[in-house]
Amino acid sequence: EVRTRYAPSPTGYMHIGNLRTALYAYLFARKHGGKFLLRIEDTDQERYVEGAVEVIYDTLRTVGIQWDEGPDIGGPYGPYVQSERKAAGIYQQYAEELIERGGAYRCFCSKERLEALRKEAEARKVPFKYDGHCRHMPRDEVRARLAAGEPYVIRQAIPEAGKTSFHDEVYGDVTVDNATLGDGILIKADGFPTYNFANVIDDHLMQVTHVMRGSEFLSSTPRFILLYQAFGWPVPVHIHLPPIMKSATEKLSKRHGDASFQDLLAQGYLPQAILNYIALLGWGPGTDEEFFSLEEMVERFSIEGLSKSPAIFDEKKLRWMNGEYIRRMPLEDFEALAAPYYGAAASQPDTRRKLSALLQPRVERLADIPGQIDFVAQLPDYDVSLYVNKKMKTDLALALDSLQHARAVLAELADWNLASIQQAMVDLAARLGRKNGQVMYPVRVALSGKEFTPGGAVELADLLGREESLRRIDLGIE
Ligand code: GLU
Repeated sequence: EVRTRYAPSPTGYMHIGNLRTALYAYLFARKHGGKFLLRIEDTDQERYVEGAVEVIYDTLRTVGIQWDEGPDIGGPYGPYVQSERKAAGIYQQYAEELIERGGAYRCFCSKERLEALRKEAEARKVPFKYDGHCRHMPRDEVRARLAAGEPYVIRQAIPEAGKTSFHDEVYGDVTVDNATLGDGILIKADGFPTYNFANVIDDHLMQVTHVMRGSEFLSSTPRFILLYQAFGWPVPVHIHLPPIMKSATEKLSKRHGDASFQDLLAQGYLPQAILNYIALLGWGPGTDEEFFSLEEMVERFSIEGLSKSPAIFDEKKLRWMNGEYIRRMPLEDFEALAAPYYGAAASQPDTRRKLSALLQPRVERLADIPGQIDFVAQLPDYDVSLYVNKKMKTDLALALDSLQHARAVLAELADWNLASIQQAMVDLAARLGRKNGQVMYPVRVALSGKEFTPGGAVELADLLGREESLRRIDLGIE
């Protein structure tokens, strides 16, 4: 049975890359009728953030990713929170076992000694590597120092010679010289495991078959492989995912202010559009199809479709895709999502519906709505130079003249609706021997105080109603 996991650290926000990892792991499990696990990796107590686990739950639920085992619903291999696993003594137990097997050792080196080593490495411009000082400490000495209550960490005993290899489904075969690895810490002085240790123990105990995670973990994977080997455990399939970049050289990073999933929601992106867009950052269906529901992704997802080249997070493309999602939904659904952004612009159901119909074809992000419709509730101050428009072939005199005529015609209209207003304007333009735009554009400006609006003069007049439209045209003529 395929078992994948999503193992986020609770940081308080959902990075786009993390959500992508969760998505792919979920898709792969579903596709193969397997299980998708959620495990909270909270062993870095200094980074603990209140409410951060809820952010993870909320995000996954919002996009429809369901886990089969996890902290809240349990499962056969719990607990699913690393701090709870630590409290249960799991990591300590396996660390002791590893020491017995010769795959790890206690290290009593002081901070000062390690600091000196680090400085020395820095001075020689080589990467810091623990020198193995405590690796061959006689058992008696270890026992004595333990009995004396000396603080210690547990380090991985990396083989001094040889190479370690593994196969990654995306990046291919990877081989490193063990001599480059250094004896990293598995258990810290406070008894907490490092990520490097805990992920292996947990993936094994939780019977994870396929490990999916960002390519930033590729270079640590040989250490993990050595741990699996030292325990005599089967190595899961490794699938590293390409980085998500914001430009050719810079990684997308929440720490550097790039948008998280929550930020994108706040900007008015739809969860399904975000998920759809994210799915394509590192995976493709092998065709040029781009729109996928979660169910369709499950059907189409495959490891072969993963790419190892960095993906660029292109907000323009996301905007476009979001706009497409908006356009593809029923008007009522759009209105339900958009109405909270209408503010004072649409107090009546009738206006609300008209506004929705105007906006749906044009909006890319819900949060852009207020800026597009602010003129509805209140005509902004605008400059008469707006009436001058090359493309519309209007100058100030012509625009004001068109407004005068339009006012007269509109005031006489028997019925005030889209068709009647349209007809009146077109007839007027014909009568004056002007292009439609030479009449409509000035009216649009008078009604909105803007050059660009959702909908043109006719839609705006219909939306605002006769009284308000005439009042605004009068103001325009003044
Ligand atoms: N806790 C790690 C992270 O959030 C998980 C990496 C992994 O999937 O093993 O980046």
